[in-house]
Amino acid sequence: MRTQVGIVGAGPAGLMLGRLLEQAGIESVVLENRSRDYVEQRIRAGVLEQGTADMLVSAGVGDRMRREGIVHHGIELQYDGERHRIPLSDLAGGRAIVIYGQTEVVKDLIAARLASGPPLLFDVDAVSVAGIESQRPSIRFTHGGGAQTLDCDFVAGCDGFHGVCRPAIPAGALRTFERGYPFGWLGILAAVAPSNDELIYAHNERGFALLSLRSPELSRLYIQCRPDEDIAEWPDARIWEELHARLGIDGWSLAEGPVLEKGITGMRSFVTEPMQYGRLFLAGDAAHIVPPTGAKGLNLAIADVKLLAAGLVDYYERGDRRGLEAYSAACLRRVWRAEHFSWWMTSMLHRDDTAGDFGLVLQLSQLRYLTTSTAAATTLAENYVGLETV
Ligand SMILES: Cc1cc2nc3c(=O)[nH]c(=O)nc-3n(C[C@H](O)[C@H](O)[C@H](O)COP(=O)(O)OP(=O)(O)OC[C@H]3O[C@@H](n4cnc5c(N)ncnc54)[C@H](O)[C@@H]3O)c2cc1C
Repeated sequence: MRTQVGIVGAGPAGLMLGRLLEQAGIESVVLENRSRDYVEQRIRAGVLEQGTADMLVSAGVGDRMRREGIVHHGIELQYDGERHRIPLSDLAGGRAIVIYGQTEVVKDLIAARLASGPPLLFDVDAVSVAGIESQRPSIRFTHGGGAQTLDCDFVAGCDGFHGVCRPAIPAGALRTFERGYPFGWLGILAAVAPSNDELIYAHNERGFALLSLRSPELSRLYIQCRPDEDIAEWPDARIWEELHARLGIDGWSLAEGPVLEKGITGMRSFVTEPMQYGRLFLAGDAAHIVPPTGAKGLNLAIADVKLLAAGLVDYYERGDRRGLEAYSAACLRRVWRAEHFSWWMTSMLHRDDTAGDFGLVLQLSQLRYLTTSTAAATTLAENYVGLETV
């Protein structure tokens, strides 16, 4: 097999890159090691920055998002038993966020690709990349029992944090930055209408909680827990009890419903520099991870492939390599801004026993500042909806 761009991974990064290349008349093959069903059902992000939503529309895959996505113009911060609204759009030049699940973004991108025809192979196995320092890199894999080699001009490593592309780069060529956190998120998807019109980020001495949503009928709720916590110790009743305790304020109550899905996710900050080696380009979680508090992971993945697609278009249409050469540095400016924002939101909102009372009072001071100073609130708002230029 031969193609222009071989894409490893059918998450948001790989699928969107394939879509943008298809629009520009550039051939690609997407290889995914999971089944279509698994990829479409994997519950993850749900907050789209304005720029991500705009890109889905311009890529011709935004119709359902425009119909079913829910536009939010603010979020609420809760601390000391009070809620304070941050009017995102008022503070960030009219920009907003759209609530639309990553599962739905992925379904829309898969449906568009399968309808128009460029190859997208699920359930591939034993994927490895070779020759990335040469002019003719290749991807080896097995599919339907047979071994295959895909020769490419370029390989896009969109295979997430645990994929095979980043490890294919010689260790000495990369610099990595990493930070762990002593907490994780226990998340549930519940079949109940959200109890609030906007997201609530709650600081609480029992630990952080987040009220979010996926649709008018589906609530997404999180509580801070230990990263190594056993989900078996969290029957639904205990989760609801904790959510009531952390999110509750006078005059408001949290509606409960059947829990459809639950799981615990650890948190980490991670960046690889550079995001390119030879003819292999990394995008999305393959190159960087943020803790979910800033809602940035999916959005960064989409921002990366927008730049990568533009560089590839310049290369194929005009033989201009400058976009590809500048790819890593351009991505990393946005990545580091998002890394800082995600770390800052995480540090401000989570109970951290290692920081003691001093840390707790600093958090409350920062939250008070954010909810009383327009300058401070604007910093949060413009980062949350996504900076247009970084
Ligand atoms: C619980 C949770 C909540 C989150 N909440 C948010 C949020 O609110 N907002 C936000 O912006 N982000 C959030 N994120 C992060 C967001 O989901 C990720 O940043 C996003 O999925 C990154 O997209 P990606 O395409 O780079 O990687 P992925 O979505 O991980 O896709 C990589 C794909 O590559 C495939 N793959 C892996 N290895 C191979 C291989 N060897 N061969 C072939 N294919 C392979 C994988 O199966 C996968 O389909 C959350 C993440 C989690 C886990």
